[in-house]
Amino acid sequence: MGTIPSETIEQIAAANDIVEVIGSYFPLKRAGANFKALCPFHQEKTPSFTVSPSRQMFHCFGCGAGGSVFRFVMDYEHIDFPAAARKLGARCGITVVEKFRGGALGDEERERELRRRLLKLHAEAAQWFHENLLKRELGEAARKYLKQRGIMAETAKRWQLGYAPDEWNAFGSSAREEGYDVRDLIASGLVKTKDESTSITSQRPESALRTAPATTAYDRFRGRIMFPIRNDIGEVIAFSGRLLKDEEGAAKYLNSPETPLFRKGRVLFGLDKSKRALIEANRAVVCEGQLDLISLFEAGITNVVAPQGTAFTEGQARILKRFVNEVVLCFDADAAGQKAAERSLDALLQNDLIVRVAQMPVGADPDSLVRREGKEAFERRIAEARDFFDYWIERETASVDLGSFGSKIQLARSLAETVSRVRDPLMRGQVINKVSARLGVTAQDFEALVTKQRSAAPILPRDHPPEMDRTDAMTPAPRHEISMLCVLALRDETARDFLRHQNWREILAEVPDAEILVRILEGDLRPGDAASLNAFMVTLSPADERLVSSWLLQKMPPNAGAMVEEWWLGIRQAVLRRQLNVATNQIRLPELSTGDIINLQKQILDLQEQLHELSQPAGAADN
Ligand SMILES: [Zn+2]
Repeated sequence: MGTIPSETIEQIAAANDIVEVIGSYFPLKRAGANFKALCPFHQEKTPSFTVSPSRQMFHCFGCGAGGSVFRFVMDYEHIDFPAAARKLGARCGITVVEKFRGGALGDEERERELRRRLLKLHAEAAQWFHENLLKRELGEAARKYLKQRGIMAETAKRWQLGYAPDEWNAFGSSAREEGYDVRDLIASGLVKTKDESTSITSQRPESALRTAPATTAYDRFRGRIMFPIRNDIGEVIAFSGRLLKDEEGAAKYLNSPETPLFRKGRVLFGLDKSKRALIEANRAVVCEGQLDLISLFEAGITNVVAPQGTAFTEGQARILKRFVNEVVLCFDADAAGQKAAERSLDALLQNDLIVRVAQMPVGADPDSLVRREGKEAFERRIAEARDFFDYWIERETASVDLGSFGSKIQLARSLAETVSRVRDPLMRGQVINKVSARLGVTAQDFEALVTKQRSAAPILPRDHPPEMDRTDAMTPAPRHEISMLCVLALRDETARDFLRHQNWREILAEVPDAEILVRILEGDLRPGDAASLNAFMVTLSPADERLVSSWLLQKMPPNAGAMVEEWWLGIRQAVLRRQLNVATNQIRLPELSTGDIINLQKQILDLQEQLHELSQPAGAADN
């Protein structure tokens, strides 16, 4: 901190409405004067994550997370304060000028700098690939291919599709001409080193690597149609490349590797464009490939996402749960598609998503189907999609003779294993009823199997997302009277004025857990001004920020002026009593000189008198 002027911070806070900012990440629902949502920082079923438009802050009553608009962006995006300030600054056109102290960058700053460079590189790479596809001679074959797949130029532009030439070094050398360091190119995953040379280069001094890149590095994506993969706010963070000419032994689709920008299990392709539609439909249509998704979206089915890779991860399911309650899987009818559907189930069920499966005719995928049948027919398929368990029972029972008790039990066991993954007890009960009825066993018997599975495989650890800093969340609030004064000093101009005219530094120095109140009183904040509160909060530790955010959401006592005097009096009395206690204990010590005893006696009398004065009704102690 301290590298960004506080006026700039306040300007940024004032220009960024927290409801709009958080609402750009996931939907918020109005609840009285505030907005609510499922907390992104812990797992919950009823929303306790609260955003206050009047206070311009957020607070979760479930896990205690909370703070300013800066804190939200920092915690949600896992970035540090300056990065959050820059991001919010960019949103409202305020440039953040930062000064680095000294020459050396800290680890965190270096990491942030790298991320910044990689984002810029990805944005420029996407544009470079895109221009290859649209304008260059070498993009002709790719243009033909897309046209033949029915993708119009308009669509290619909307999704910024691109083409990576079938050359070893086309992208790499162009990026180096733009001034990119080969180490950044390798960190981005767009360029890789030859496997056999990796061990050699890693032993070389870095300067050698810098001067001899052309021989050791080559483009990862060659001869591929390029799909930029964006995060949920639309920044390009990775690519997926589809082979233009199918080749023996080459993967049809190739994704960027995991990089500082790209964590595969946390990104849903298309989410940046489909967010709004997902909320409105309260249902996500999930397809496997990028082309499927683009075709559905362009056909007008816009509540679509695609997991990167084939199956849903826990992280992706959790993101999705913020937008919808129901998921319709539109995976291919082939074996691989069915496997992917099954493997997705675990993560989806654990996040209490209702899972249905849309039947695809054998050999068809959403892309070909929506083109052939049109939007309405495809929507009918989605509407008629069957509950995953119905679909699964039917599939499993097709090959099992339910007349035989042995095979029935065997099937019941394998189904119980899946049902046991349903986390929500209510939903689990419903599924148990349905499955047992289908199998022709009693619900009790089937439930017993499910219970056995649940105890065999505890799924508890998933309830605690790793990114939640639990020790930090446990910071205890100060005593009640201090908390009350903090609330008043934060929220009421008169109360704040009153306190600041007392000898508060002197008194509070005697109170053990009053540090936060001292910070609030010395802070340059104006209770009525949400931007100044936000600027104040960035000066606090995350734990203190959580406390302050909870105080800002508390109900204010109606008579703040009288309350503050009462609580302040309580604090002063407590301080005097403590001092009196210390003095009366001291005077009992042996080995005291006569002078010490007289001083202590004086002190005790003085303290008693002060206490007595304080306990007089207001005004009586004036003379
Ligand atoms: Zn929470």
